Order: sequence, then C-alpha cells, then structure tokens
Amino acid sequence: MQIYKVGGAVRDRLLGKPVTDIDWVVVGATTEEMLAKGFRPVGADFPVFLHPKSGEEYALARTERKSGRGYGGFTFHASPEVTLEEDLIRRDLTINAMAEDNLQNLTDPYHGQQDLENRLLRHVSPAFAEDPLRVLRVARFAARYAALGFTVAPETLDLMRQLSESGELEALTAERSWKEISRALMEDQPQVFIEVLRECGALKVLMPEVDALFGVPQPEAHHPEIDTGVHTLSVLEQAARHKQPLTVRWACLLHDLGKGLTPEEEWPRHIAHEHKGLKLIKAVNERFKAPKDCQELALLVGKYHTHGHRALELKPSTLLELLQSFDVYRRPQRFEEFIAACEMDARGRKGLEQRSYPQADYLRGAANAARTVAVQPLLENGFKGPELGEAIKRERLKALKTYKEAASA
Ligand code: ATP
Ligand code: MG
Repeated sequence: MQIYKVGGAVRDRLLGKPVTDIDWVVVGATTEEMLAKGFRPVGADFPVFLHPKSGEEYALARTERKSGRGYGGFTFHASPEVTLEEDLIRRDLTINAMAEDNLQNLTDPYHGQQDLENRLLRHVSPAFAEDPLRVLRVARFAARYAALGFTVAPETLDLMRQLSESGELEALTAERSWKEISRALMEDQPQVFIEVLRECGALKVLMPEVDALFGVPQPEAHHPEIDTGVHTLSVLEQAARHKQPLTVRWACLLHDLGKGLTPEEEWPRHIAHEHKGLKLIKAVNERFKAPKDCQELALLVGKYHTHGHRALELKPSTLLELLQSFDVYRRPQRFEEFIAACEMDARGRKGLEQRSYPQADYLRGAANAARTVAVQPLLENGFKGPELGEAIKRERLKALKTYKEAASA
C-alpha cells in the first residue's frame, strides 16, 4: 500500500500556513489489511480509519457516484484498484486535490499548485455539482483566504449558481450546513462568506431573511453606508476584527433582520424593527439548529440592541428591565456578549469604525450597581416568595437611580 498526505495539509504547507490536522489517503489496500495493521474503523459507510497511535484519519482511496438527492444519496466505491488520481478527482477544489508522499513529492493532476499561485478557488470536475455542501465550503474558503487575495473562479461561481437555482441546497441537513456556517463565521473575513453566498444566489435560498436586507436603505445620519445589507457585512467584519466569539458573530449577522420587513413607504426609517425581526431570527436559528447559546444571544441582541445604543438615556426602570431580561445576575458573560454585539453594530458603519462606545462601560456599571443589592438583609426583614422578588427589584431600582445620577453628575 502507498500512503499520501492529502487535502488541507498539502494546501496549507504550500501556502506557508500552519497545518493543524492531517488527512491521509491509502492506495492499494483493503479494509482487512488496515484492520490487521491496527487501524480503527470510523464509520460503517465510509472506508475511513484512525491511526492506532496518532489518531489521524486515513481513508482508502475511493470513487463516488451520486445516486440520489442530498448527501445520503452517494455511493462509494473503495478498492485496492482505485488510483490516487481517481480519488483526487472527487474532491471539491483543485487546491484541495493535491497529494504528497513522505518525500514531499507532489501529485497534482488538476493543477492545484497553479491555482494556488493564481489565488483561485476552482472546482476539480463537473462532479462538483453533486454535493451542494460544496457551495458553502467554497464560500468558507473564500472567507479564509480573502486576505491572501483568493477569489472564486468564474466557472466555479457559475456551477455554484446552478446548484443554488436547482433546489439542491434545500436537501442539506441542518447539521452539515451549521458546521460550515459556524466555521465560516469564525474565519478572519466572515463577511466574504456571506458575500460569496449572495453572489451565487445561495444566500437567497439559505437565509432569505439576510438576503432581503440588501437594497434596504437606513437613515444616512446614523448609517453613512445607507444599505442595511452592507451594514450587516460591516458589523460582521468588525466582530471578526475584534476576535468576538461565535455567539456574538451569529447575533451580529441576524440583529437587523426586522429591517427587511419594513414597508417601502416607511423607508429609510424602521419603526419597531427590533420586535418585528424576532420571528425571523427564530426561523433562521431553527433552520440551522444553531446551538442554544447562539440562538439565545441572537434573539436578545435582536430585541435589545437599540436599548444598548441608548443606554445613557434609558430610565432606571428600563435599565432594570434590560438587566432582568438578561438575567445578568446569574449570566454575566451573556450580558458582556450583548454589549460586544452592540458595540460591533455601532462600529459597523462607514467611517465610524473607530468611534468610542461609552455605552459599554455604562452598561457594565449599571449591571454592577444592580448586582450589589444584597438579598440577606431583605431575608432578615422577613421577605419571602414573590414579595422577596419585589423587594429585590425595588432595591435594584434604587441602586440604578443612584448610579444614573452619579454618572450624569
Ligand atoms: P480544513 O483546513 O478546513 O480542515 P480541509 O481542506 O482539510 O480544510 P476537510 O473538511 O478536513 O477540509 O476535508 C479534507 C479534504 O477532503 C478536503 O481538502 C477535500 O479534498 C475533501 N473534501 C472534504 N469535504 C468534501 C466535500 N464535501 N466534497 C468534496 N471534497 C471534500
Ligand atoms: Mg482537514
């Protein structure tokens, strides 16, 4: 048997990027031979094994044929006769379809190295169109390598457009899509992921609620960029620049969905867009079965981001409601993430990227003020049950009044 390094490890070495996980392909071997060498099988359907020591993935060279809709609709053929070239041709991009042996001799039948030099994300063969997940993968690689100058080859974009129009994208499972979306959002330029999906028509299918924001104007006084879609991309860009976690990036992407529902007569104003957007945020959350912390933060940021911006003008009673809604006493981290999302929203505007955001410290101070209310004295005064809850609220309100007065003095 011959063993080759494939995929990301080869690509990233040639790019001079750190290689994290290595995928291997094994040519000329049978399952029985692999098991005899101590490899552990991964799944029932795939001829993939884990190395007994390193735990890295070793796949038998295989060919694939599409036999139905979605990813379940694939049949694999692995046998010792399958060649390296046959295995490489089923891969998505030419830059991912190179192999190298233990002497670093490159096998590159589809000219991946040339595309690396030309900074092109190009599909390997027309079989690209057999798996709609590749649309998301290409957009994710575009986001990852945008800083190096990579773009999607026009003929690949055409195929992605055909896939988006064919209805095949709808066959993707929530799990497979979310895995790509969440990884793409964590790249350095997540806005490029959304841009590429939009360019090939996939955004309209996957997240029509986000697609609908493009072409919707906002008041120039607050939004020099005017367009709500452009604003959303800038907010995402800021979130990545400030190394925000996935929860914050997801909330940034979805925070303004309500603006897509504003009747044109009301443009460029968006009255109550925070509230109107909630059902759309919920729909997108559920479509991709986003993790609970992402879902929750997106809904809270959608509902309250304007409160965040107006923090210094909020009445103590409104401040208290905000803090209660976030359960800031038990979930301080979530409130920090809310503040971060609001700040990214404020900076994701043309020419305002460097602005200061005093609301952040003001909100933190308010949370601290409310938190300092001690429960023990109230218990000692005989409060219990719902009355205790009311008494705590009253004390917190008092603390917030004092805080606000001190802050504006
Ligand atoms: P990363 O750095 O994100 O891990 P990678 O290229 O290693 O990038 P993997 O998802 O680990 O990506 O997949 C390993 C290789 O398997 C890819 O380089 C590609 O050749 C192939 N591959 C993975 N998923 C697909 C797919 N859906 N369609 C075609 N080829 C794929
Ligand atoms: Mg990999």
